[in-house]
Amino acid sequence: MKRQTFLIDADDTLWENNVFFEKAIAEFVSRMEPLGYSAAYVRRILNEVEKRNIRQHGYGVASFRRSVEETYRRLAGELARSDEWAWIRDRARELEMTPPHVLEGVPETLAFLARRHRLILFTKGEPAEQAPKIERSGLVNYFEAVEIAPEKDRVSYEHVVRRHKIVKQNAWMVGNSPRSDVNPALEAGLNVVFIPHPMTWELEHAELACGTGRMLLLTSFRDLRKHF
Ligand SMILES: [Mg+2]
Repeated sequence: MKRQTFLIDADDTLWENNVFFEKAIAEFVSRMEPLGYSAAYVRRILNEVEKRNIRQHGYGVASFRRSVEETYRRLAGELARSDEWAWIRDRARELEMTPPHVLEGVPETLAFLARRHRLILFTKGEPAEQAPKIERSGLVNYFEAVEIAPEKDRVSYEHVVRRHKIVKQNAWMVGNSPRSDVNPALEAGLNVVFIPHPMTWELEHAELACGTGRMLLLTSFRDLRKHF
């Protein structure tokens, strides 16, 4: 096999991420119950607010905190309480401090792949938040480069392809998100390894698109060793 280039997603591909946000959201939703709002309604408002804030402020904990605060302001109005504001602040700080929980089989698989192929970490988010996380994961040495984009769309894929002189036919995007990993990579003409994660964030869901590249569906990261 020719040497391949792998662009590898980080959140919910190399380490757990969304599960921690989901826990915080579940707690927030139950704290809104005494105000008389159903869980589904609270979640819908939060999703709406998040979508808007992401466009303005990007991804990450700071943007999430802003969205939870705004949702609380909308739901509670004049009944807003100082202990709830403190809870939101403390929960956001906890999310920031959570060290990366590397998924099972990931370090061995990266070591295996790095001996044969070129690996580039490609994640979206705030560089100030993602870069220390990548550092703390202990995985950075397997990668020839790290790319952090505010959004993973067709344009940012094409940018990475040009910058690293990638031959598309011999390149694969590996990730868990239909919206950020699978679809834009296929649109950009890359091949894709789709590894669904059960806790993938609602806002990352999408119908799978078609492209000229190949798509491989795997159930775990370690299965990459069977194919490459
Ligand atoms: Mg991901």
